[in-house]
Amino acid sequence: MTTPEGVARTAIVTVDDDAGVSRAVARDLRRRYGEQHRIVRAESGDAALDALREMKLRGDEVAVIVADYRMPGMNGIEFLERAMDLYPAARRVLLTAYADTGAAIDAINVVDLDHYLLKPWDPPEEKLYPVLDELLSRWHEEDRHAVHVTKVVGHRWSARSSEVREFLARNQIAYRWFESEAPDGQRLMQAAGADGLRLPVVITPDGDALVEPADAELASCVGLATTPSKDFYDLIVIGGGPAGLGAAVYGASEGLRTVLVERTATGGQAGQSSRIENYLGFPDGVSGAQLTERARRQATRFGAELLTTRDVVGLDVNGSARTVRFADGGTIDAHTVILATGVSYRQLGAPGLDDMTGRGVYYGSTLTEAAACTGQDIYIVGGANSAGQAAVYLAKHAKSVTILVRGATLERSMSYYLIQQIREIGNISVRTCTEVIAADGDDHLESLALRDTATGATETVEAQWLFLFIGAAPLTDWLDGVVDRDERGFVIAGPDLSIEGDRPRGWELDRAPYHLETSVPGVFVAGDARAESAKRVASAVGEGAMAVMLVHRYLEKL
Ligand SMILES: Cc1cc2nc3c(=O)[nH]c(=O)nc-3n(C[C@H](O)[C@H](O)[C@H](O)COP(=O)(O)OP(=O)(O)OC[C@H]3O[C@@H](n4cnc5c(N)ncnc54)[C@H](O)[C@@H]3O)c2cc1C
Repeated sequence: MTTPEGVARTAIVTVDDDAGVSRAVARDLRRRYGEQHRIVRAESGDAALDALREMKLRGDEVAVIVADYRMPGMNGIEFLERAMDLYPAARRVLLTAYADTGAAIDAINVVDLDHYLLKPWDPPEEKLYPVLDELLSRWHEEDRHAVHVTKVVGHRWSARSSEVREFLARNQIAYRWFESEAPDGQRLMQAAGADGLRLPVVITPDGDALVEPADAELASCVGLATTPSKDFYDLIVIGGGPAGLGAAVYGASEGLRTVLVERTATGGQAGQSSRIENYLGFPDGVSGAQLTERARRQATRFGAELLTTRDVVGLDVNGSARTVRFADGGTIDAHTVILATGVSYRQLGAPGLDDMTGRGVYYGSTLTEAAACTGQDIYIVGGANSAGQAAVYLAKHAKSVTILVRGATLERSMSYYLIQQIREIGNISVRTCTEVIAADGDDHLESLALRDTATGATETVEAQWLFLFIGAAPLTDWLDGVVDRDERGFVIAGPDLSIEGDRPRGWELDRAPYHLETSVPGVFVAGDARAESAKRVASAVGEGAMAVMLVHRYLEKL
């Protein structure tokens, strides 16, 4: 049997305290089953349980466990009983001496024994292999196979569990979700030695268990780069949305030593979109995740470095070098910088919402939570395209979707094609002139207080799920005093910097700032973070590419 990539060889585990017997069993098993199965041997119940725990964490499957009955400390039946907690589906065989047949018969009831074998089992062709052949074929008929992926054990209403799932999904890391209260989840937590008080428990494909990990720890454990390989680059791109990824692709493909630094996950806002329908070249639409995955691959193929979970908190000018500071105090330098930090959802300040965030209240996150919303009543706040897309997507799973909009119509804020789609979907309704004024619940959202903005009337509705897509703010305070921004925090660039033809304050070059150049020479801005930008995927990508062209022009004259 070949072993497909990512699928582990199923194990047969044997335990006997007599080293000679243990080796003999393992040798006989290896001779017949060694090519297709991994034979794992232990000389005590405790050692075998350790091995089983390790295999559980790694995601290995165990088909058969062969245990000797008479072992000091923990006998074979006690061992099999505990092994069942980890591998309930593994077939169980007890090795007994003739005198212990009674105990073996009792074990049939205690641990649901599949077989007992009398020692000695020679010749194995007659006494051991026929039994094992049958058990293995029954086990394999169930078409179970181990796939080594990241596993997340968490609780539906644990905010950190929800964030971790969102983080993995947005970084395109395949994972399997296990409810902490379900038997599979309990087994994994037992194997990890976790008490379930701190969730989630993340188990990497190598079998390492991380309890309530921070993003940076998670990133490095699942193979995402978090540290730069050089001290100095031609170009640092800050932000991994469409503008940043566009800049990274063009920068690296044109020979610039390029590093992209992203706070959470590449893709930015676009990465959270269930279907972008107006991006050139995708007549049937494309999901944000697909677009991001392709752009990431493209950027790395050209040699761009992509760092995730690195939050940029400062920008300094050091002669001709531009220094970027990270939240953990680290720095990197470059000749040039492209700011592609986009915008983030504003948080709604209504009482109770903060407490319920991640416990029924989500900013974005529709793609991750959609499956859990099956058959449920959902509320969405927002009147722009992002809210409309979320409604269309969630309506496929939910019983009902109610869009709450403060304004009197959707027409002013949402694209015509989306309004048409929404009208045609029976389980979506739109409540205009409505705002959320409070949220309530114990460990998760249970109700919302709504207010009619026209009449002032209030009402309370039962609600377990609320998704918010309200306005967006550029989080650029860290640029204060370095780069000119408008009153809302958007970065001003090019001609917009000149007041009545004058150069920006402190500008010392004898040329005007290039089109996407900020008030600091060699620092450019692209995408939604730029003042007066179009707030579209295509324009963000285009500006990323254009900024790289201007970087070349800047470098030529350096
Ligand atoms: C749900 C949704 C659906 C949308 N649908 C469409 C659509 O159908 N068509 C369309 O044209 N547009 C759509 N948009 C808008 C579009 O996604 C944005 O215009 C586009 O993503 C802007 O790209 P950007 O790269 O400028 O910024 P963003 O996408 O906002 O990316 C900015 C990135 O920078 C990172 N970042 C920010 N600050 C820092 C820092 N200090 N350090 C490190 N990293 C940082 C952020 O984490 C983020 O990943 C949608 C938006 C949303 C939210």
